[in-house]
Amino acid sequence: LVSCKDVHKSFGAVEVLKGVSLDVAQGETICIIGPSGSGKSTLLRCINALVPIDRGSITVEGQEVHDPKLDKLALRRKVGMVFQQYNLFPHKSALQNVMMAPVTVLKQDRKEVEERAYRLLKKVRLSGKEQAYPGELSGGQQQRVAIARSLAMNPDVMLFDEVTAALDPETVKEVLVTIRELAEEGMTCLLVTHEMGFAREVADQIYFTDRGVIVEQGSPKEFFANAKDPRTQEFLSQIL
Ligand code: ATP
Ligand code: MG
Repeated sequence: LVSCKDVHKSFGAVEVLKGVSLDVAQGETICIIGPSGSGKSTLLRCINALVPIDRGSITVEGQEVHDPKLDKLALRRKVGMVFQQYNLFPHKSALQNVMMAPVTVLKQDRKEVEERAYRLLKKVRLSGKEQAYPGELSGGQQQRVAIARSLAMNPDVMLFDEVTAALDPETVKEVLVTIRELAEEGMTCLLVTHEMGFAREVADQIYFTDRGVIVEQGSPKEFFANAKDPRTQEFLSQIL
């Protein structure tokens, strides 16, 4: 569904991605882990065409993402993205946040969008909070509104960039549960995360990045039991 081949990306003189290749099949959950500054967020942004690439190719459902003729709006409809900073509209309720893009961007019928928004908020376990404003919700609840908002566009794949990194430990779990449920329902998910327990439990494949290259890839079992690259071993020894 998503395929990156030999992706290179520099910011000025700094090469942040040095030939990254990665494949995500339909229904798979992939976790990308690695030290700060290794290019994880940049890779997700490249997949979503938020930043251009210098070399290589990225396709989503066979379509080249960096083809200048590609309809970026159509791409972003297919590829949902949730960030560490959830960036909800503070003056809009949870329900309105979820409804906004389908109504204003896709011009879908308001009534239908509203019904779907109620369903999605229920799915992320926020029934009863539809009318709450972001300021009245916990970080974990806001992050789940952000996930529902992304799902409202009916994406084929979801990108999550350290979505629990800014949360209190108690609320991390509820967000991870939501993502796990999505993954189990067959949503294709690509996550950058530091949650090793989650990666071990939910990921089909784990990629370890360091300084712009993927140094290791494998099933959680292979990855945690016998990481071969010394950089991976060192990273794991620091966190486990
Ligand atoms: P973290 O775990 O801290 O989120 P990361 O693996 O997500 O790190 P990136 O955010 O992809 O890393 O950044 C990789 C490198 O690219 C960093 O050195 C960063 O300073 C640089 N970088 C990222 N975005 C830009 C930008 N828009 N302009 C210039 N440099 C950038
Ligand atoms: Mg990042």
